[in-house]
Order: sequence, then structure tokens, then C-alpha cells
Amino acid sequence: MRARSDTPWDVVVVGAGITGVALGLALHQAGLRVRVLDRAVAPPFVPDPAFDPRIYALSAASQSFLARVGGWQAMDAARIEPIRAMDIQGDGQGRLHFDAAGADRPLGYIAESAALLDGLLAVVRRTAPDLVEAPVSVRLETGVAGETAPRRDHITLHCAASPSTATTTYRTRLLVAADGLQSSLREQLGIAAHFRPYGQTAVVANYESDLAHGGVARQWFLQGEVVALLPLPGNLVSLVWSAREEHAQTLLALTPQERTAALQAVVGYGVGTLVERSRPAGFPLRWMRAERLTAPRAVLVGDAAHGVHPMAGQGLNLGLQDAATLAELLIHRGEGPDCGDAGLLRRYARARVEPVWAMQGLTDGLYRLFGEARWGLPFARNWGMSQVDRLSGLKRLLINQANR
Ligand SMILES: Cc1cc2nc3c(=O)[nH]c(=O)nc-3n(C[C@H](O)[C@H](O)[C@H](O)COP(=O)(O)OP(=O)(O)OC[C@H]3O[C@@H](n4cnc5c(N)ncnc54)[C@H](O)[C@@H]3O)c2cc1C
Repeated sequence: MRARSDTPWDVVVVGAGITGVALGLALHQAGLRVRVLDRAVAPPFVPDPAFDPRIYALSAASQSFLARVGGWQAMDAARIEPIRAMDIQGDGQGRLHFDAAGADRPLGYIAESAALLDGLLAVVRRTAPDLVEAPVSVRLETGVAGETAPRRDHITLHCAASPSTATTTYRTRLLVAADGLQSSLREQLGIAAHFRPYGQTAVVANYESDLAHGGVARQWFLQGEVVALLPLPGNLVSLVWSAREEHAQTLLALTPQERTAALQAVVGYGVGTLVERSRPAGFPLRWMRAERLTAPRAVLVGDAAHGVHPMAGQGLNLGLQDAATLAELLIHRGEGPDCGDAGLLRRYARARVEPVWAMQGLTDGLYRLFGEARWGLPFARNWGMSQVDRLSGLKRLLINQANR
């Protein structure tokens, strides 16, 4: 049997990750008719005293957006750590230090991925229980994809919870693909994606130190690898070690004691004596750029739109800013255009291309700069870091840029 709703939805978002749910809530709270669909139900968040090793550094702008939709307040504040300072060390004498002293807010926040999603879903359960539908498999009606698709006033999706259940047809003015790096919607929309593996895997794990971290996020740029120790509540720190593929596999195969010794050999004992508190996990790293951010009546947001190296902790921040920008445009579009209006989508693409390309350029540039061992480069990059460190105006500019 086929169910069919005749009034098109204003927006259907495919992908109920942090980006998709935050966007769905922002639009719902502004009175738009919106649905968020996901192929899987998010597992319940079970707080672990050693914390989830999948954590995010969030900018002040991302925190504000999450607070506007209520997800931030729905999290347990005792599981969020403000970033008071950042200390970045090169592979020579280079050093950069940023701190929030004198500023009215921290440089950013560290929060667990599962807790962030859980906070948003708690708001959904309380205020909009029908907003998210999962599990469903989603298929785009054929003939709607590509730049040459005929002009229509809606886009059609077919959804089913399983191959044996009834199909629901959704007609929507705007389709948003928020279904992650491997986005099947992006492919069905005919938008090509260019992938480039970094040849690195990020090894993540949590450690307890016998010294207080003071809210300092620390990063070490080694030759081609990046080690970050990010502050968590208490004396816990979270490791993100972007290591060459083979090295990452070696690190993952070590015993906790051997891995900790390898880590201390790199970061020293200024961070205290560390003890591993969580199981390690590995995430292969890839750069991705979508050829376009829009198709007729469709847009890409979050990892469906871009993949960046995690060294600057900006992937989710970019996704949340995609969502905030799109929500602003749709909510304040005025009387005339519907949510899938081509002019609105062009404004979205114009607003997002520059910040996304700038962040991809920055992380890629640093990755290459610190991967090079050619004569003079190690000296030049470390000298450059120290020069930036001396210029307080430039550092303020960098902090403001990261918090946009
Ligand atoms: C090691 C590491 C550290 C990182 N650290 C940071 C950091 O500190 N700060 C930061 O900002 N970013 C960080 N990132 C990046 C961040 O993880 C991603 O940018 C972010 O998770 C992307 O969120 P998203 O909602 O766009 O996509 P996802 O989280 O991938 O969500 C996609 C959703 O779509 C659903 N889905 C997929 N396919 C379909 C389909 N066909 N149909 C229906 N639903 C579908 C999935 O079930 C999922 O719910 C890091 C990444 C890595 C690997």
C-alpha cells in the first residue's frame, strides 16, 4: 500500500546526524513544515566516566547555534569542557599560544559527539516528537537529479522502513542532503564529489593525567603527523593523533601501556604522566570537495558537502554553520519564494563556498607544510609560527576567524 501526502513539505532533511537534526529543529521552531529522515536510529547515549573518545572542539558560533535550538542546554554541563587556551608546537622551536584571558567567553568547547546528538534528540522528543523518522531507506524519484532536471515546484522521495513495509512518498519544496561524507543523496542528485585520501588515520583515545590541564588544548605538529590533546572535565584529556596509515595501525595494535609510552615520547611529561582510560579507535582521513553545493530544489550541508582534515577541529563547525546559514535564509525569505527557490539556493552556495574553501585550504596547507622535509622548510615553518605568536593583533584575528 502507498501512503501519499498531497501538500508538499517545506523541507525534508536526509541525515539525522548533529547537522541534520540541528537544522531540522531550527526550521521547525520557526514554523516551517519539516521532516528529518535517517536510515538508522541513533543509539541511546550512555555516559561513561572515561568519556567517549569521539569528541568535538566546537567554536563559539557553533555553540550559539546549538543553544538557539535548545540542544546545548539539554546536555549535562558537567560533561562539557571550555577551552581556555591553545598551545601549538612546531617540529622545531616554533610555538603559538592563544588564550581567552580577558575575553568574555572561552576559545571554544569540547563535547562528546554522542552527547551532542543526544541533547538535540532530547529537544526533539520534548517539543517535536514527529520531526525525526528512522529507520527509513530513502530513494529519490528518478528524473529529478542533475542540473538539467525539468523545473518543478517540488521534489519527490520514496521511503520505506524495510523492503517489506509500505512506501511513503514525500513531496518537498526543498531537499537537504545531510547524510555524511559518503552521501548517497549527493550521488542521486548527480553532484560529483572529489575525494583525496590523506594516507592518514586519526587514532583517538582518552587519558587521565596526574596534572591539571587548565583547559589548555595542545597540539604538536610533527613531520607529517599531528598530535592533539584536548581537555575534558577533570584531569582527562582526549587524544587525536593523525598518523600515517602504517604508523596508525601500529599504534592501534599496541597494548595501552605501549601506546601511552609512544605518546609520552612525543608530548613529553609537561602534560603529566598519562594513563589510558578508553579503548582506542581509528578514523581514516579524507579530503572531499563536492562539485556544487546545490541542485534544483536541493542543497548539501555538513560532511555531505565537504571533508576536511581534523587537525583544525572544523568539520562539524563548518556543517553547523552551513545549517545556521541555510536556516537564516529560509526563515527570513519573505512572502514570495518557497523554500526551494533557485535564488535562495544560489545565496546559500555563495555564502558557504568561501568559508569552506578557506578552511580546506588552511588545513591542507598546514598538512603539506609540516609534511615537507626539504632544506630550509622546517626552519621557515617554525620561524613563521613564532612570528605569528608575537603579533597579538594577528592572533586576535585568527581567534575571531575560528569562532565565526
Ligand atoms: C578523528 C576526527 C576528529 C574530529 N574532530 C572534530 C572537531 O574537533 N570539531 C569538528 O567540528 N569536527 C570534527 N570532526 C569532523 C566531524 O566528525 C564531522 O564533520 C561531523 O561528524 C559531520 O556531521 P554530519 O552531521 O554532517 O554527518 P554525520 O555525522 O556523518 O551524519 C550523517 C547522518 O546521515 C545518516 N545517513 C547516512 N546515509 C544515509 C542514507 N542513505 N539515508 C538516510 N540517512 C543516512 C547517518 O546515519 C547519520 O545519522 C572530526 C572528524 C574526525 C574523523
